[in-house]
Amino acid sequence: MDTPAAQPRTIAFIGLGIMGGPMAANLVRAGHTVIGFNRSRLAVDRLVAAGGRGADSVAEAVADADAVITMLPADAEVTEVALGKGGVLSHARPGTLLIDMSTISPQTAIAIAHTGHEKDIRVLDAPVSGGEAGAIEAVLSIMAGGDAADFAEAEPVLRALGTTVVHVGPHGAGQTVKAANQLIVAANIQALAEAVVFLRKAGADLPAALDVLGGGLAGSTVLTRKKTNMLDRDFPPGFRIDLHHKDMTIVTDAARSVGAVLPVGALVAQLLASARANGDGGLDHSALLRGVERLSGQ
Ligand code: NAD
Repeated sequence: MDTPAAQPRTIAFIGLGIMGGPMAANLVRAGHTVIGFNRSRLAVDRLVAAGGRGADSVAEAVADADAVITMLPADAEVTEVALGKGGVLSHARPGTLLIDMSTISPQTAIAIAHTGHEKDIRVLDAPVSGGEAGAIEAVLSIMAGGDAADFAEAEPVLRALGTTVVHVGPHGAGQTVKAANQLIVAANIQALAEAVVFLRKAGADLPAALDVLGGGLAGSTVLTRKKTNMLDRDFPPGFRIDLHHKDMTIVTDAARSVGAVLPVGALVAQLLASARANGDGGLDHSALLRGVERLSGQ
C-alpha cells in the first residue's frame, strides 16, 4: 500500500554517527528541516554541509521540533539524552513525537515511553536493520513499537529512511524484534566466517565459491554485504563488534526473561566477547572471521 508523502517537518536528530549521519542527510533530501546535535562537532558540520542545521545542545535541537529522532550507541546514552536534565523530555514541546532508532533493551524503551507519557511526549522505539549501506541508500528495515496512531504519524518520515517499515506491536516490541535480528545476523556472520576459513584451508577458489554460494540456499544479505570484507580481510566499521556485543547482551537478557533458550545465540555472544578481548571491538562485525582464523591457527 502506498503511504502518503511526508509533510515537511522540523525534525531534531540526535546522534549523527555511522548510521545517524546518513539518515539525517536523507531526511534533508526528503524536504524536512533537520536540526542535528552530536557529542562531537565534526558530525554536526557534516550535516550542515548536507543542508541541515546544527545545534549546540539537545535542548536547542529539540526546542522547535515536531519530531525528535535519536540514533545513539546504547541504553545509557539514550536514557541520558531522553530523560537527563538537558534532555528531550525536559525541552521538547508537549505533543512532540520522540522516535528512538538506536538499539537498546526493550525494558529501557518501555521505561522511556512511560516517562514520556507523563510529560505528554509520545515515544516510539523504531530500531533499524540494514547497516551503514542501508542507511546511506535509505533502504533500512525499520521495526516500530508503540501506539498505532503515533506509528501512522511517523510512518511517512520513516519511509524516507527505509523501505520495509513495520509496526510490530506496543512499546518495546520494536527492540524485541531487533534483538531477534541481531541473533540471526551474528549467527549468520559466524557461519559465513567458518565457511571462509574452511574453504581457504581446503584450497578452494574463494571468490568463485562465495559467488555460487550466494545464488543458493546459503545466499543471504550478510553474504552479499560482507563478502568483500571477508575476501579482502579488511574490516572497517560498518557495525562495530563493540555494538554487536552490546546487542547480544540484550538478546541474552530478553530471552532469559521469557524463558527462551538460545544455544547458538549464547555461543555467538561468547565469540563476540572473545573478539573484543582480542582487541577487535572497533572493527566491523565481519571481523568475527579473525576469531575463526585464530581458532584454526591461521
Ligand atoms: P556510532 O557510534 O557511529 O554513532 C553514535 C553517535 O552518537 C556518535 O556520533 C556519538 O558521538 C554520538 N553520541 C554519543 N553519545 C551522545 C550524546 N550523549 N549526545 C549526543 N551524541 C552522542 O554508532 P552507529 O553505528 O551509528 O550506531 C547507532 C545505533 O544504531 C546503535 O544503537 C547501534 O547498535 C544501532 N545500529 C547500528 C548499525 C550499524 O551498522 N552501524 C545498524 C543497525 C543499528
